[in-house]
Amino acid sequence: DTFGASGLRDLLISNIERAGYKTPTPIQRVCIPTIMAGRDIMGCAQTGSGKTAAFLLPILHGILASGGGNSGSMSSTAEPSAVVVAPTRELAIQIHNEARKFALDSIVRTVVCYGGASMNSQYRQLQNGCAVLVATPGRLNDFVTRGRVSFSSVRYLVLDEADRMLDMGFIGDIEKIVNHQTMPAVGQRQTLLFSATFPEEIQTLACNHLQNYVFYAV
Ligand code: AMP
Repeated sequence: DTFGASGLRDLLISNIERAGYKTPTPIQRVCIPTIMAGRDIMGCAQTGSGKTAAFLLPILHGILASGGGNSGSMSSTAEPSAVVVAPTRELAIQIHNEARKFALDSIVRTVVCYGGASMNSQYRQLQNGCAVLVATPGRLNDFVTRGRVSFSSVRYLVLDEADRMLDMGFIGDIEKIVNHQTMPAVGQRQTLLFSATFPEEIQTLACNHLQNYVFYAV
């Protein structure tokens, strides 16, 4: 199995090579074709498994295939095609760095937003266009409440390290995001839920917010 045979766009294949990735990891072998086929995923995976690229690559492929998403003109409300929610600033930055590597030389714009930093500079980034938004739950809701981010164009919603987000008390923020009035309904978007563990609360989240999902455990 190679990345070349995955059907990912040539630009992504060359950026994968530039990143120095030679062969897909097991989770990438499952998730890339599954997400490209339009399915939801509940993935039980640890950091180090390559899960970030497993969801970012097919998402970027899908966004590129439909013209690059919200790629540019100044707008007071960002309408990302993909929203990735992560528990911590560190993880959000890490995911965003990976997204930037893969989106290199493309028109896909990526932005990262997290708490504990000025909203102004993050808002300026959002205004310049945002196809892939990586964010922590609280800061994302701050922007949504202020009308700076709308979910109306979301085709991919990723909840990464969901068990950690619940442990950190973010369930209210997560529910607010998935149930927001601008969020496309289950079936109108793809939802990708990743968690190191699969306790009852995560099963409930999967039942309520995913549809006909593929279950993957390492
Ligand atoms: P993750 O599990 O997504 O946090 O990734 C763990 C580390 O593995 C990160 O440093 C990635 O850049 C790296 N990585 C992910 N996929 C591959 C791959 N197919 N080949 C080599 N390194 C990879």
